[in-house]
Amino acid sequence: MGVTWRFDGDDLLCGVGADWNEFALANGGGACVPPPIGQPLAGFVSGPDLCVVWRAILGLSRRDPDRTLRLTYRCDSPAERRIMTATVTGNHRAEVAIVSEIGQRQPRPSVPLLDATVPARSGEMIRMCGWCARVKVDDWVDVEEGCRRLDLLELESGPLPRITHGICNDCRVAVTGGLDLVGGAHRR
Ligand SMILES: [Zn+2]
Repeated sequence: MGVTWRFDGDDLLCGVGADWNEFALANGGGACVPPPIGQPLAGFVSGPDLCVVWRAILGLSRRDPDRTLRLTYRCDSPAERRIMTATVTGNHRAEVAIVSEIGQRQPRPSVPLLDATVPARSGEMIRMCGWCARVKVDDWVDVEEGCRRLDLLELESGPLPRITHGICNDCRVAVTGGLDLVGGAHRR
């Protein structure tokens, strides 16, 4: 199952794929049904630094519409590790299409922190990389490990922190460096 976003030249949502509603509802995105046409990219990407990276990716596609970018990122559901692939293509009208699909999924015991239906949240914030889904607990660690360290795997431990998204330095380097590699002149 995948989902398609289309953004216009101003990074506003201008269309979605036929699979949009089904994907949104299956992934806790009920607020995005019907699709919020006209909403800016920033409305879909939480975290300003992550948004900067996605803007750069869209910009790259617009400058070189004949080039297809393939990106891999992690987007877990509470009970599944998921590796997502995003295929990004521009066209000559400055629109960019992003097709996001689940590449690999691996079940795991549910992580309450990722469950949007668990309402009680404390005033604490935990930072999560929107690319590799690691969380910052002293250093960047897998979400399961971070929750173990912070004693967040049991709901009885008390209210969960809120998640704030960003991008970790490893991913920033890998994504920006990788784009040059993937779309470089040798692929022409
Ligand atoms: Zn990361």
